[in-house]
Amino acid sequence: MSRLAVVGSYNASMFFRGERAPGPGETVIGDGYWLSAGGKGSNQAIAAKYQGADVGFVGKLGADAFGDEAIAMYCRVGLSTDLILRDGSAHTGVAGIFIDAEGANRIMVCPGANLKLTAAEMVDGARGAALAGFQLENDLSAVAEAICALRQRGVQTLLDPAPAAPLPVEVYQNLSFIKPNEHEAAALTGIAVQGADDAFRAADELVARGVGCAIVTLGGGGVVAVGRGLRAFVPALDVRAADTTGAGDVFCGALMAGIVAGWPLLASIEYANCAGALSVTRMGVLEATPDRRETEAAYAAWRA
Ligand code: ADP
Repeated sequence: MSRLAVVGSYNASMFFRGERAPGPGETVIGDGYWLSAGGKGSNQAIAAKYQGADVGFVGKLGADAFGDEAIAMYCRVGLSTDLILRDGSAHTGVAGIFIDAEGANRIMVCPGANLKLTAAEMVDGARGAALAGFQLENDLSAVAEAICALRQRGVQTLLDPAPAAPLPVEVYQNLSFIKPNEHEAAALTGIAVQGADDAFRAADELVARGVGCAIVTLGGGGVVAVGRGLRAFVPALDVRAADTTGAGDVFCGALMAGIVAGWPLLASIEYANCAGALSVTRMGVLEATPDRRETEAAYAAWRA
């Protein structure tokens, strides 16, 4: 059993680039197309793998060509496919992303097989791990049930509450860690989060609901962490951001890698903060995901 189980989604992301996105009833001719691996769970599992973590991805794909391509991609990046399930009754998750000349995007996601991953399958896949990481791109009630069941079995649990959705109170009580960005922290707590002071208030509220430690990321505005003996603000690295897509997934993957490696929590957060910063300096998500060598170098430079 892997030390880290990342339970979550995979989406084949199809990018269509053109002068402008189509409006209702309209067909427009684009000038670029590419296919990329996406889905928060998959991205985070790969980000943790790139950091050298012993990680398994617990997810569900359709028995179709996009599912085959995902398996081939995991083999290329060296991520074990042992915990990945296939479902012939559903399609692999897909996302269609239209990008216009201004770089604005419109996205439609059809989750398909991601919604077929059951609580029992999540628990089976993550049973015996030191830490199980979740996001909210699978069936919400299955995620909630699995978090509670795994925590009761002594597995540490981490939730990246994206996309934000109201959570049952027992989920908070069974989370070792929660890692919202500022928008998700605001959606969960009702506290408008516009900086570190607000983030501390939102994190306090999440801890009051029963979470062990709340880690609120503020993009280029730093990270706030409250709980498990911490009350810390970690400033963002001063980098030139080229593409912030997937920064939260890279941060989360590196954070989980640090936790299962047994590092102190603050060091894990600082290290993840360096991984997130590296990722925003490059375009794409997987292509922008840093490995352990460069993250360690950035972390050493940041500490110096
Ligand atoms: P999400 O991608 O979930 O919206 P954030 O935007 O908060 O998450 O980014 C996650 C992490 O990525 C940040 O905490 C930080 O470590 C890093 N990051 C994001 N944007 C920047 C930036 N402009 N400069 C430096 N680091 C950044």
